[in-house]
Amino acid sequence: LLVPGANACFILAADGARGVLPPDPRKLSVSDEDAWVVATVIRGPQSGHVRLRRDDAPPGVDIEVERPEAEVAACSIVSDSEPTLAACEDIVGLGDVNFGAMLHSFRLRLEKDRIFTNIGPVLVVMNPYRPVDSCAPSTMLEMAKKTSASTDANDLPPHAHSSVARAYSSMVQGKHGTPQSVLVSGESGAGKTETIKLCMAALANISRSTGSTTEAALESGLLLEAFGNAMTVYNHNSSRFGKWCALLAPFCRAARISSGVIQSYLLEQSRIVSAPSGERNYHIFYYMLAGMPEPLRSQLYLVGCKQVANPSTDKEDNPGKVADAAALSVVADLLGMKQKELEAKLTTKVLKINGPSVFSKRLTRQGSTYTLALSPEQCGDTRDAVARAVYSAVFDHVIKRLNQTLGAGSIAASDRRSIGFLDIFGFENFAFNSFEQLCINFTNERLQAQFTDSLIKRQQEEWKREGVHCAHISFPDNAGQIELLDNSKGGVLALLDEECAVPKGSDEGYVSKMHTAFASNELYCKPRRGKGAALHGGKPGVVTKYDALQFIVHHYAGEVQYTASRWLEKNRGTLHPDLPKLLAGSSRPLLASLFAERAAADETKRATVGASYRSSLRALSQTMAATTQHFIRCIKPNMEQRPDHFNGQVVSRQLRYTGVAAVVEIQRAGYPISYTHASFIGRYRCVAFDKPELLAMAQSDPRQCCAGILEYAQKLAGDSAPKEPWLESLLAQVGATKVWLRAEVLNALEVPRRSVT
Ligand code: ADP
Ligand code: MG
Repeated sequence: LLVPGANACFILAADGARGVLPPDPRKLSVSDEDAWVVATVIRGPQSGHVRLRRDDAPPGVDIEVERPEAEVAACSIVSDSEPTLAACEDIVGLGDVNFGAMLHSFRLRLEKDRIFTNIGPVLVVMNPYRPVDSCAPSTMLEMAKKTSASTDANDLPPHAHSSVARAYSSMVQGKHGTPQSVLVSGESGAGKTETIKLCMAALANISRSTGSTTEAALESGLLLEAFGNAMTVYNHNSSRFGKWCALLAPFCRAARISSGVIQSYLLEQSRIVSAPSGERNYHIFYYMLAGMPEPLRSQLYLVGCKQVANPSTDKEDNPGKVADAAALSVVADLLGMKQKELEAKLTTKVLKINGPSVFSKRLTRQGSTYTLALSPEQCGDTRDAVARAVYSAVFDHVIKRLNQTLGAGSIAASDRRSIGFLDIFGFENFAFNSFEQLCINFTNERLQAQFTDSLIKRQQEEWKREGVHCAHISFPDNAGQIELLDNSKGGVLALLDEECAVPKGSDEGYVSKMHTAFASNELYCKPRRGKGAALHGGKPGVVTKYDALQFIVHHYAGEVQYTASRWLEKNRGTLHPDLPKLLAGSSRPLLASLFAERAAADETKRATVGASYRSSLRALSQTMAATTQHFIRCIKPNMEQRPDHFNGQVVSRQLRYTGVAAVVEIQRAGYPISYTHASFIGRYRCVAFDKPELLAMAQSDPRQCCAGILEYAQKLAGDSAPKEPWLESLLAQVGATKVWLRAEVLNALEVPRRSVT
């Protein structure tokens, strides 16, 4: 049997038993990747020691493990055999499993292409990085055909199809079907976007009558991927924006999905002007080069494209100028502007001031206004800002057009059933983390909060319905992180807004204010000085300008060190007011229309990027909270996008921080196992085979029958079973529809069952 201890499990059973070992490089020489390995007991416990052999170790390389007596008491495990682990469709069904066994089960299942596994109400998807049968369109169509209206969606095997089938059936139930949502999370490359595609395909299969809308929504994904996905180090098709896509059906017509709406979040704009090394710009550019017909290609100057090297900077006090006149003329033509006008806007700025507060050689006066010739760096920033603004306006435009196609807004909010799909960028932690990472990780904090809320609530509601009493269960929650980041009075994002508003605000000032404000917050810390240099290619221990810009946040998913370089500017996100006006004046009608609104508005009054993101995220959280949530957690088996390779460290990290491991905990803390009355009686009637009067009640009074079996089993159980009366001391409860069992009782029940069968 496996014994869970603090971060460890040892094997204690008789000789020949098998189990899973924890990583302990000193004693077990488990390599980094394995995390947990399978071992066989060579010699059972003798004077506090067991002798083990790893399954992958050559004979003779045995390991001696010391077994503190305290851990013997904690011994409880149901399953120890590999076929059981590989066949296991719901980890919670394994009973009181330890972490190693859970991990091993995922390893075995992936080997057999079983990429879908339930953990209670959560669907876990292990990315196979190659086509597998269970995701083939024909298999999925087959599943949909087999699922008739009478099938209980709760009985379906773990699969994206099943999650959607459950969501769909609760959506159509009743006159006012509850809105449903399918929330997919996981780190970059874990398979979120592919899983959402499977879900949408499943929805199209299930709701055959819905026809074109679901398919149009699925196809819209391809278009959005062209504009919003790019190759990164973690994923050759990484989504660089978050997406909420809801499919809607009016109440009157029987759940026929007739429209959809897409909302996007935080497209990564920096990629437009520079992609990190080894990564690419958005797919659309490469598609245009590869597939555009000739006349159009020439018209867009996409022939003989060349990379223009960035001119080397002069001194700061010299004005910047356009280095490549030919490139300028191409851009001016494409943007529908006069070359001279564009050049002037890229290299100068008109200031309306009474007298400049700083003297600069680059300032000249014309009457009441001054013209500032921009420095080379400022010129580059302006050029980049124009490129970013144009691209993100085009992206928004694509979404707007897709929404028109999907008939968004054609059904009133009060009169519709809905099923929404969320594909949001996963938690990120790089060597250098900027404002984008803070926003992404903040999003994941919000999603995690939904996860905990929903799962705890759901479990507690079920116990209530069942009339089962249960002690309060503590579950790791991230309320502290949300408070730290999102508090409107003095949270990390609010302080950034404040710093943007003060006259002489600076990145350094912002970080130093946070150091003071959060000095006693244990989720925040100020890094040791000198650490920053190493991150930026300098010598470790040398203090650089980055040191004053760094801070650490303890996210639920781990510690992330941020560098607040140029955050004020990123947060303001405004264009110099001249630029929207310039773009709105373009002779190209589409471009002009994209900027007409911004040109008319007061650019300086725009909400900051952080503030508008916070509010759109809050709105999304409210939308999600009003739905019944179906959680899907995508896990990647390795960091190299390799098929058939299971890295135990990589997987355990994800299982732990996503809270998936904690879902097992919560089940364990409450009642890890529940059986419907009928299946409980079916399984344990053998225990009471000599009590016919008890078994006779199976139909007439199943509750009483279950209780009777439990009482009788306790009499039969040996000394190892809990002594206190099981039912009275709530070690087991018979609820309205199910029997709820603690692990101790389950083990005790299994002993007489095995001895009888
Ligand atoms: P994410 O959206 O989480 O960043 P993706 O959904 O883009 O990740 O998946 C990354 C890659 O992993 C895909 O391009 C594909 O090669 C592979 N992949 C993901 N899910 C599956 C699957 N169910 N079957 C086969 N390959 C998959
Ligand atoms: Mg994606």
